[in-house]
Amino acid sequence: MTDHASTLGHIKDVTVLTAALDMAPHLIDWRKRHTGQAECVVFPSTTQAVSEVMAYCHANRIRVFPQGGNTSVCGGSVPDGQGGSIVLNLSRMNRLREINPDDDSMVVDAGCILANVQQAAADVDRLFPLRLGAEGSCQIGGNIATNAGGTAAVRYGVMRDLVLGLEVVLPDGTIIDAIKTVRKDNSGFDLKHLFIGSEGTIGIITGAALKLFARPRGMTTAALAIRDIDTALYIARDLRGALPGEISALELLSDSEMEIVREFRAEGALRMRQAPWYLIVEVGGRSTEAEYRDILETLLMPELESGALTDAILAENERQRGEIWGVRHSVTECNMHAGMGLTHDIAVPIGKLDQYIKQAEAELAEAYPDAVPVVVGHIGDGNLHYIAMFTHEAWAAQTAQEAVRDHVGHMFYDIAVGLGGTFSAEHGVGSIHTGDMERYKSSSSLRMMRDMKAAFDPLGIANPGRMLKFSIDENALGGEIENE
Ligand SMILES: Cc1cc2nc3c(=O)[nH]c(=O)nc-3n(C[C@H](O)[C@H](O)[C@H](O)COP(=O)(O)OP(=O)(O)OC[C@H]3O[C@@H](n4cnc5c(N)ncnc54)[C@H](O)[C@@H]3O)c2cc1C
Repeated sequence: MTDHASTLGHIKDVTVLTAALDMAPHLIDWRKRHTGQAECVVFPSTTQAVSEVMAYCHANRIRVFPQGGNTSVCGGSVPDGQGGSIVLNLSRMNRLREINPDDDSMVVDAGCILANVQQAAADVDRLFPLRLGAEGSCQIGGNIATNAGGTAAVRYGVMRDLVLGLEVVLPDGTIIDAIKTVRKDNSGFDLKHLFIGSEGTIGIITGAALKLFARPRGMTTAALAIRDIDTALYIARDLRGALPGEISALELLSDSEMEIVREFRAEGALRMRQAPWYLIVEVGGRSTEAEYRDILETLLMPELESGALTDAILAENERQRGEIWGVRHSVTECNMHAGMGLTHDIAVPIGKLDQYIKQAEAELAEAYPDAVPVVVGHIGDGNLHYIAMFTHEAWAAQTAQEAVRDHVGHMFYDIAVGLGGTFSAEHGVGSIHTGDMERYKSSSSLRMMRDMKAAFDPLGIANPGRMLKFSIDENALGGEIENE
């Protein structure tokens, strides 16, 4: 054990792993695309312990890579290859601090797993609405650090909309206790918003006050098979208009995605007629489940009769709802088996989704005829995961893989940004999109972000190389840093 690991291991409520085998799962990401090195993996179980770890790392200029559930899909959750750093894993900070159905709030440690937070809310007859495929592993701190979106954002918003207050430890160990459950607080800058989506680059999130909601009285889920993309988009738009505030998911899947699920998911895909596009619709609110089924049937029957919809499943019970969501949530894993999927987490204004899909498909076909366009997305928010899928063999045959990756990325991102959209909708920037930040953000935005980073983390020890290219101004530091 090195000196640093040994000293950190003596801090109260801190466990340290140094054996290669123990550290291994923390040095590789979920999709096994990114690996790194670290001196040790540190597990604090209290906020005070996080503070002492950070103060020590600050005093010794040790680089710190925060890690939640390690489900990042943009290389944000594992350290770089330099070594000498620490991984700060939050999983032992997993206490439910308080839950209060009277003011629809709960306060949790940052390391709580999302599915456990959802369950704790359900246990007091409330809803914590963030939903995503990785909910069994990802943590609230990671969700906040990435400002996660997921399938219910169309109704409840993204993580930023679900946070009432935060507790954060700054890179020098200072604890900021801004945990509050009030809905209104105009007393100065609302600091929590600086940390939401900051990807661990300006502080470690240790606790959060979260918003809860009433559970819908009834809900139902439908899967629709659709003849073309324009039809899918107008059906989605019409449903939003017909059921304002009651649509809690609008998920689009291309048949190429469904084909992958058919091939690689043990339980198979949805048992419905094959079509170019599929829409998963979830609706819930004051009506009962049976009433929602009737409402959807009435709204969708003319589309079925006209041939716009070629098939539809209206879930009759929880098991059928689970089957539909099982397919949706299996896509990331199935795509890993299918080949090398170059995934692009873009968003455009909702009204421009059709333009995006058509242009991206045409440009990909021209540049890489052996890549298949695979689309899965949260179309209620204008957010698509647009994937160029190469078979393992086709990818292995590419002699300049990095150049292809960059070229495909720029192609898809240029279209999105040209339509008034973004190259990173919900997954974050991580380590793989720092170059895209330089390409697509204005120089004034980048300057302001670097100024902010310098104000919180002048030594650049917090998640270096993630989100923002940032170099330390040694002159401005003005001499020795004291260990307080
Ligand atoms: C199958 C699958 C489906 C997914 N679906 C979605 C989806 O629908 N929507 C979506 O938005 N994302 C999705 N993701 C991506 C991922 O799950 C989210 O980004 C999630 O919010 C990451 O949480 P995590 O705890 O795993 O964080 P990690 O992956 O461990 O870390 C993510 C980033 O946050 C930082 N970080 C983690 N914890 C903290 C903390 N406590 N304080 C400061 N910084 C921290 C890390 O350093 C890293 O930069 C999916 C991933 C998978 C594998």
